[in-house]
Amino acid sequence: MSLAPAIGLFGGTFDPIHNGHIEPVMAAAKQVNLQTVALMPNYLPAHKAQAMSSSAQRLDMIKRVCDTYPLFYPEPWEIEQARVTYSVDTLSAFRDRHPNSPICFFIGTDSLNSLPTWHRWETLLNLCHFIVCKRSSETTKKPTTEQQKIVADLLRKHQTTEHASLHRTLAGHIYLADTPEVNVSSTKIRALIAQGYRPHEMLPESILQYIEYTKLYQPKSNI
Ligand code: ATP
Repeated sequence: MSLAPAIGLFGGTFDPIHNGHIEPVMAAAKQVNLQTVALMPNYLPAHKAQAMSSSAQRLDMIKRVCDTYPLFYPEPWEIEQARVTYSVDTLSAFRDRHPNSPICFFIGTDSLNSLPTWHRWETLLNLCHFIVCKRSSETTKKPTTEQQKIVADLLRKHQTTEHASLHRTLAGHIYLADTPEVNVSSTKIRALIAQGYRPHEMLPESILQYIEYTKLYQPKSNI
């Protein structure tokens, strides 16, 4: 049976979306020969505190990125659920909608390290491949020894260095992409904007303009 083209899926809080999301995923997609990546903002992330902008605003920012970069399209599925969704639920729904396509789920190295804390994480590799983008350790926590052991074991069983195998099977591989380390986080951007800075090197101009227009993350005195 020949498979349909592989689809990428990249989820996050995206509060706001920034170059640390966009640049590594674009580089990784090119490396693994992927033509389409869905950008999917979380409704209420299971692992973090509530986002500071509304779901609609985060989706608006994502749509602007999709207008600029044709690789991406907006995927509102999690927001439309209007409830907490775990990655396993999202991936099952995505699999139902794309039964014949390999699914490449993009994560940063920090997310790979915390994978063992995700709900029903053992089943995820039955649903998708993981494409792991490098993330600078400056913006992330160091993994515990136990996490390192689990991740090493996962890589031993599932890692592939051949991107063709991601297109030959629906799920089950982990590919460590050679991506640029972009030392940016949404937390850092929110903090800089709240201090009155304009961190134009960290995110696309169209997103900064949206943030300014909607007065997101601004110092209290500006609101
Ligand atoms: P926050 O600072 O609010 O925690 P964040 O910048 O970490 O946000 P998320 O929306 O939580 O961004 O991240 C979504 C996904 O993007 C995760 O898989 C994360 O590992 C990845 N990611 C975020 N920033 C980077 C970066 N600078 N480089 C590589 N991957 C990143």
